Amino acid sequence: KNWPLIKGEIKFKNVSFCYKEGKKVLNNFNLHVESGENIALVGETGSGKSTIVNLLCRFYEPTEGDIEIDGINYKSMPQIWVHENLGYVLQSPHLFSGTIKDNIKYGKLDATDEEIIEASKLVNAHEFISNLEKGYETPVGEGGGLLSTGQKQLISFARAVIRNPRIFILDEATSSIDTETEKIIQNTIHKVLKDRTSFIIAHRLSTIRSVDRILVISKGKVIEEGNHENL
Ligand code: ATP
Ligand code: MG
Repeated sequence: KNWPLIKGEIKFKNVSFCYKEGKKVLNNFNLHVESGENIALVGETGSGKSTIVNLLCRFYEPTEGDIEIDGINYKSMPQIWVHENLGYVLQSPHLFSGTIKDNIKYGKLDATDEEIIEASKLVNAHEFISNLEKGYETPVGEGGGLLSTGQKQLISFARAVIRNPRIFILDEATSSIDTETEKIIQNTIHKVLKDRTSFIIAHRLSTIRSVDRILVISKGKVIEEGNHENL
């Protein structure tokens, strides 16, 4: 029951994955990420980047192979434990109808107003929220329909950091993210990544300048790796 806090070392061991039988999206994918390492995944659309992080979030199980966290097969860990240590911002962020505050609090049910504001400030969302007429009490609408994709990502970002997760995942929205939000996310990433194991999927190299390792993904495999200087 009482699992120790994780260090956040991650291993993908010969992971294959199919959404539909017979069509492998990941094929013998191997990756070893050290605790605290910041990884960026880049590559053409459909190459499998989101699939890699979706498996880590445990939305799906590998078809073959294993994922280990701190050397322990994550299948043997309770789902809740994985969730408590993992913060993620998905490509199509999901909000539920309720207020902005409700949606951020979903990351930590007993969060105080101060913690909610602190998390929003950390991800640079506090300003846009405060500028809304009802501030944190603004209803987001069905599925967040009253907000832009960029705003939804920022709220989902605040929700992810409020529990101070050891592992952080950002799958940046591909389209319709305005340059203003893009800039906000760029400025935020550095602060949030510090001292955490992280996976960032970004569409501009400038966003991932400060990561430790950039992996180029093609057809579900790493075809190249390096850093901002040598890629
Ligand atoms: P993008 O840069 O466009 O976000 P990606 O690298 O994240 O692309 P994935 O979303 O991981 O790519 O998709 C990899 C492959 O798996 C693609 O061929 C895609 O069509 C397929 N795929 C993704 N999600 C599903 C799903 N839920 N059901 C069936 N196939 C899927
Ligand atoms: Mg994707």
